Amino acid sequence: PLAALDDAGLLRTQALINGEWVAGPGSFAVTDPATGRELAQVPNLGRAETEAAIAAAANALNAWRSKPAKERAAVLLRWQQLLVKHADDLARLMTAEQGKPLAEARGEVIYGASFLDWFAEEGKRVYGETIPTTDPTKRYLVVKQAMGVCAAITPWNFPLAMITRKVAPALAAGCTVIIKPAEATPLTALAAAELAQRAGMPSGVLNVLTADAQQSIEIGQLLCDSDVVRHLSFTGSTEVGRILMRQCAPTVKKLSLELGGNAPFIVFDDADLDSAVDGAVASKYRNAGQTCVCANRIYVQAGVYDAFLEKFAARVKTLKTGNGFEAGINVGPLIDDQALQKVETHVADAIALGAKLLTGGKRIEGGGGHFFEPTLLADATPQMLCSREETFGPVAPVFRFQTEEDAIRLANATEFGLASYFYSRDIGRIFRVGEALEYGMVGINTGLISTAEVPFGGVKQSGLGREGGRQGIEDYVEVKYLCLGDI
Ligand code: ADP
Repeated sequence: PLAALDDAGLLRTQALINGEWVAGPGSFAVTDPATGRELAQVPNLGRAETEAAIAAAANALNAWRSKPAKERAAVLLRWQQLLVKHADDLARLMTAEQGKPLAEARGEVIYGASFLDWFAEEGKRVYGETIPTTDPTKRYLVVKQAMGVCAAITPWNFPLAMITRKVAPALAAGCTVIIKPAEATPLTALAAAELAQRAGMPSGVLNVLTADAQQSIEIGQLLCDSDVVRHLSFTGSTEVGRILMRQCAPTVKKLSLELGGNAPFIVFDDADLDSAVDGAVASKYRNAGQTCVCANRIYVQAGVYDAFLEKFAARVKTLKTGNGFEAGINVGPLIDDQALQKVETHVADAIALGAKLLTGGKRIEGGGGHFFEPTLLADATPQMLCSREETFGPVAPVFRFQTEEDAIRLANATEFGLASYFYSRDIGRIFRVGEALEYGMVGINTGLISTAEVPFGGVKQSGLGREGGRQGIEDYVEVKYLCLGDI
């Protein structure tokens, strides 16, 4: 599929350190999850390259953070424009290595690019403050300064947006960055880096280290151990988040973590059912269910349970699964065989514990791809794995509940707290439930909540910090208090 790129220069198969494209001591394969075929080989880097990238980012720091924010913004805006200009090629690369349908991939490119212009502007508004003095001989001032060298470890489910969401605020604030993209999706990251170079990113300001799963652990350790790296931002599983947090303790590194979710999606008796079905389909089956904000548990109140299921099942049956390059595909492949196995386990467990399979339920054999049928399970219960763990696949378990109190209790009965959703037309209930859900984000009468302008992030074991919004740049600046005496 990569032969069809309009600009062949976007197929980068080397890593970027200090403005130079570098090969590694070895390489690893990037494969197409829809066919299992190899797309390219990229460098499998380790200690030497990580140390070189940290040194490059440290060297570039002073010049970059000393520029007026407006000059840094100009580079970010040029980069944003190039991402949009090359959206079709970036979407092809993304669909090839990640699997999501081409239209969805293109949507991610536009979404991913939007963090750059948003933070280019926010970088100009990193305001300090003056505090009214309590001592006539002194004045109190507060300034915010770039944190320094930052590292970003990103996942494969949003190969571009998870990078720009971290890198844009870091660069806008005056930090320099080292990115370690997911081993499954380095090609999108490298293409984005190529466009950053074309946009005039100074050498060393943005570095990309590619590595396979094994070497990623080593690079992660080195980034955590370094006392030059002042901040680590990670999006991925809660399990790996905990490891990184532990590894960052010796250097007391600042952390932004966007970890797993277990999103409840609640449909109350007074909901607009058609709208709730639209929202459930969008929230559940987008990216084949592989987003940390995908609805994982769908709770439907008894009065509309049967009616909702009937409409929902009819819609799920219309979803077309297949290679994301083909027209009309709604659900692409899962990222790998391990992902397929997890989904199979969750479905088998649910059925064994009494869930009713309404549609789907099995992998689609043949062709070498990792496809699973869009699946709908009714009469799910809290004992099932799919209720306790993030399925990260196209499986919707539906639970029946009786009262508003029950819905809130069930929804909050998890260690996660990223996204949640509910449908209701009652204004009192909207406030009550919106305030009672222990989640960083609540979608009310919508299944799609992400946009660059709002603070994205979780509570409880779903993470630390917020990405996007006015808040997203705060993680990349340090507050400094200046006390001016002898006035
Ligand atoms: P996912 O569920 O998205 O595969 P992971 O948390 O396994 O989530 O991976 C997300 C990112 O974290 C990837 O870039 C991966 O290479 C990296 N990663 C996984 N394990 C470690 C680790 N022990 N140290 C550093 N990075 C890691």
